[in-house]
Amino acid sequence: MKDIKAPSRIEITQFPKGKRIAVTTSFDDGVTHDRRVVEAFNKWGLKGTFNLNSSFLSRKEKRSDAHLETTEISKLFEGHEVAVHTATHPLLTRLDNLQIIDEVLNDRKALEDLVGYPVRGMAYPCGVYDQRVIEVIRTLGIVYSRTCENDPRHFPAKEPLAWGSTAHMFNNDPVPVNERFEKFYGQEWMTGVFYIWGHSYEFDRSNNWKALETIFKPLSGKPDVWYCTNIELFDYEKARTQLVIAANKLSVYNPGSLTVTINVDGKLVDVKPGLKVL
Ligand SMILES: [Zn+2]
Repeated sequence: MKDIKAPSRIEITQFPKGKRIAVTTSFDDGVTHDRRVVEAFNKWGLKGTFNLNSSFLSRKEKRSDAHLETTEISKLFEGHEVAVHTATHPLLTRLDNLQIIDEVLNDRKALEDLVGYPVRGMAYPCGVYDQRVIEVIRTLGIVYSRTCENDPRHFPAKEPLAWGSTAHMFNNDPVPVNERFEKFYGQEWMTGVFYIWGHSYEFDRSNNWKALETIFKPLSGKPDVWYCTNIELFDYEKARTQLVIAANKLSVYNPGSLTVTINVDGKLVDVKPGLKVL
């Protein structure tokens, strides 16, 4: 008999490269102030998901918080995620099913025309939804939809189409979000997702652009944190849950398209799509 020593334990890590925490963000409504957020995020290495109302893009507006131009979307949000926020920002619970479908699909298709990839994420306008809305958008290829609810245990999401976040960026209850992150990160055994959302125009309206730095910069630059968009979280979660480990623990099959990291007796091993013999 061949002398083969199988590992005693193989863990499928929660995030790529065995990172302990995932940090993700999202910003709604697609106004010109998003440019300043993206510029800062690119400098700090943070990722954002930007939920856009396609019908409002390129409108001729004189307001300081005018909407973005269609022509800039693809380049501006490169490396980030563009997601659905409906075409015209209605309260979806007040619409019949057909209008909900129109609002979501029209937005999805218009954004896909701009960015050139399947747009699968969403945030509800004003966070408003109910069970009927969920069931309608479930048929439209939307993978997750963010609400405005705070939920400390929001990921993996029990209902991805009613996905809460850690908090709004200006939430101070019980402490400002950057202090909350400091505590979360500071506890070495803590693992999970830290998710902050907001609107870039809130910095402008509150005359407090300093807050962009105070709130978000402290989240950046941590070697054991995975900085990801909303959809990247869901895609990785799907990939890791599909991983097949042989009963004898000598091989692993990854049927997905993303590399998944496993921990083999304390050693991190990347499993590319396909078969990996350990
Ligand atoms: Zn909105």
